[in-house]
This record gives sequence, C-alpha cells and structure tokens, in this order.
Amino acid sequence: MKFVSTRGGEKATGARAIVKGLADDGGLFVPEKFPQVTRAELEDMLSMSYPERATFVLRKYLDEYDEKQLLAACERAYSKFEGDDPAPLVKIDDGVYILELWHGPTCAFKDMALTLLPYLLRTGCDICGVKEEILILVATSGDTGKAALEGFKDADGIKIMVFYPAEGVSKMQKMQMCTQEGSNVNVVAVKGNFDDCQTAVKEIFSSEECAKILKEHNVVLSSANSINFGRLAPQIAYYFSAYADLVTSNQIEMGEEIDFTVPTGNFGNILAAYYAKNMGLPIRRLHCASNRNNVLSDFLSTGVYDMRREFYKTTSPSMDIIVSSNLERLIFEISGRNYKLTAERMAKLKSEKMYSVTSEELAEIQKTFDGGFATDDEGVEAMYDVFIDTGYTMDTHTGCAMKVAVDWFEKNKKDETKMVVVSTANPYKFPQDVLYAVTGNDVKDSFKGIKRLHAATAMAVPKSLLTLRDKPVRFSKTADSKKLFDEVLAFIK
Ligand SMILES: *Cc1c(COP(=O)(O)O)cnc(C)c1O
Repeated sequence: MKFVSTRGGEKATGARAIVKGLADDGGLFVPEKFPQVTRAELEDMLSMSYPERATFVLRKYLDEYDEKQLLAACERAYSKFEGDDPAPLVKIDDGVYILELWHGPTCAFKDMALTLLPYLLRTGCDICGVKEEILILVATSGDTGKAALEGFKDADGIKIMVFYPAEGVSKMQKMQMCTQEGSNVNVVAVKGNFDDCQTAVKEIFSSEECAKILKEHNVVLSSANSINFGRLAPQIAYYFSAYADLVTSNQIEMGEEIDFTVPTGNFGNILAAYYAKNMGLPIRRLHCASNRNNVLSDFLSTGVYDMRREFYKTTSPSMDIIVSSNLERLIFEISGRNYKLTAERMAKLKSEKMYSVTSEELAEIQKTFDGGFATDDEGVEAMYDVFIDTGYTMDTHTGCAMKVAVDWFEKNKKDETKMVVVSTANPYKFPQDVLYAVTGNDVKDSFKGIKRLHAATAMAVPKSLLTLRDKPVRFSKTADSKKLFDEVLAFIK
C-alpha cells in the first residue's frame, strides 16, 4: 500500500509515511486508496481478541510490516491496559453505548495509538534504513504529551521532547508530564495557548535551518502528533472492534448501520471512524462534538472554516483547539483528492485564517457528518443527567459528546439507529470538574477531588493517578514560544 501527500501527491510507503510524519510539501500522508474489509472478514473479526483485530486492520495499510511481529507488538501494547479489554463497550440505555478508550497507562484515548507507535516508528526506521537518532517533538493540549512520553520512554535510538501550553492544561495533566520517568525524555512549558505551542513546533519541523543543524548532530525529527499516520491507523481498529462487540453481544445484526458521536479536537479520532466507514464498516453517521471552541461545528454546518475567533479555555482542555490539523485529510477526500485545491485551501488558512468548501462539497460532507457543541455548563448537565439516570460517570470531554448525542436524539425521536458515544478520558483525570458535575461540590485540590469523586461514584481510581502526588517533579522549565529550538539543542547536545 502506497501513501500520498494531500498537497502535492508526494508518494511514500507506510513505513516512510510514519517515519516522516509530514510530507515535504507540508501535506499529510493518506492511503492511495482505502483498503476494503469484506463481510466475510468482518465475520472473522468477531472471534478475534483486540490485538488480533488491531493487527488485522493495521496490516490492511501497513503491508510491509511483518504480521507476526505486528501481532506481538499489539499484544505488548494492549497488555499495558487495565482489565482484559482495552476498548470495552458499556450499554447505558436502549440503543446507547459508551466506547471506553481510556483504560491505558495514561488514562486517555491517546494510549490506544501511542502505546503502539514506538514499535511502528522503530520498525519503520529499520525498514527505511534510517540510521540517525530520532527526535520526537510533540506539541500537546495535555493528553498526547503524557501518552507519548509513556510510550517512548527508554525506547532505543529515540528521544522525545514534549511542549505544552503553560496555562492550557489541567493540573493532573501537568503533574503527569512533569513527573515523567525515563532517560530519553524532556518536557517544557511554553508561554501561550495550544495553538501558539503547536505553531512554534510546526515551525521547527518546516525549517531547513533547524534540519541542517540537527543533521550535524546526527538527529532527524519525527512526530507523534495525530497528523502522523501511525497515530491514525491504530485508531481505526477500535471502530471495527466496537462494531464486532455489538454484533457478538446481540445488540445489532451483522451489516446493520450504526452512528458514533466523537469528542473532537484535532479531528484525529473522528477521522479514524471515517476511514473505517470508507473501508466498509457499516457506519451511518458521525456526530462531531466540540466544546465552546466550536470552529468544527460551524464548519460542518456552513462549509466555512474560520479561525478568526476568540479562543476559550474550557473544562475539556484536550478539545481547546482552533486549528484542527486532521480536517485536511477529510477536505482532501471530499475535493475528489484534488492536491492543488487542498494546498490552496491550506495556504489560504495560513494567510487569511479561513477557507471555504463549495456547496456540493459541503453536501457531500453532510451525508456523513454533523456537528454540535457543548458549553461547560451544558456538558455538566449532560454528565449529571446520565449519572443520575444510569449511575454512569463520564469525564468532561465525553460530557460534551453526550450533550451532542442527546441533542441528536431530541431532534430525531424516531431514529432507531444505535448510537455509540466515544469516551476519551478517565473521569479521574479531571476530578474536580467531574465531581462538580455529579455532586455540585467544588474542591480546590485535585487529590481531594479524586477522594470525593470515589466516595460519590465508587468507581475504581487508576493507580497511575493516585501515585502522582508522591512522584518527584523532574521538569519545571517554561520557555518563550520563539525560543523552542534553543531548548531542543540543549536537549540533544
Ligand atoms: C485528544 C483528545 C480529544 C480530541 O481528539 P482528536 O483526535 O484530537 O479529535 C478528546 N478528548 C480527549 C480526552 C483527548 O485526550
């Protein structure tokens, strides 16, 4: 299977696409065509374990990776998850299910891909004959950073450096990152919000000057952000797995179409669902849920992507994003895979901070996608209602998705299509906000929040969060967004 860049048609193998992260023309790598999964193959998947399902889906794209090795890597990656199912499905009402993607080491859905990415990247380097040391640079809105650090800590021949917005992550997320163990890791706070942070890191990636200096140190850059196809591919697998679980538990007939509602920031998670649909998974609609930073829900209803708007800090920080990088992959597909038009639109986004698609393209997008959003208060309402009605506790990001799903039900009362709401973080990752949502109580301290939330919900507390309090802080530096490359050089020297 070959991959092509969304902006200029640069071609690469899967291994090369993963090692590079971004194409030379600044575009994202997408598969040359969508591999198909037949009904018979979907039937076969029913009896498979999660690592087997993931291997099956990944091999459709990454055919130059050895199947046995890939399976072993998936088994290793998903053995780091708590419980025996890395992506369990919970029924909360007739026809309504929650897909829990947060049982991994860092309690957020990023673990689904980032526990596997080190293998995909290391092996990709071997396949491509890359001899240099790999330096992974990550800009994070909170959860990617920790999951990447945990995935790559002490990996052979790879160093990882994470930048997070100083004022833009939750206290838990910050503690998780600043106490990270491992000999090859570094964490730096950046003045500004996530978009400032992401822009500064992208500049390092696209600078020839930086690449030249790094080369002198025998270092090449790679990315663990969700623009990397190695992040996207493992995410496709859980949509297949959820579908298989619905069939095996007799909730749906094989072939029946279902809907997903996905809490969305960089458009990576929901794009994986769209890829699954294009591969033949019976998905009817995808509901894209945002918080008050609702640039995506505006785009999905008007066809205009306009980032000239205020940036809000919300209680769902991993969705506080105005530049949704992965949307480029959808725009590319919808344009009829028009490289030139995609490049023009992305250039326009850079220079004019907006672009629009045609009404025909918008209609095509709306055949599958619709968008909605929840303010913090609306998210609280949704979390509270579900907790009171069913006893189920969800985090603030999932709360936004629940609000959007409920809006859909209210507008489409006769709709019998089963709905899976994708849940992206363990509630204990945002203990104060979740405690407030389910009990109305405010506490100042995160660990007090954990204790009270446990008292209110009796839900098990993940060990990795409980032990954070006693871990020494290893990283406490804050840097100016203009000076990130100095930090990089200091780290690799
Ligand atoms: C990253 C993240 C999201 C957003 O996912 P995208 O793939 O960027 O759309 C939502 N919720 C949580 C908890 C996250 O960590």
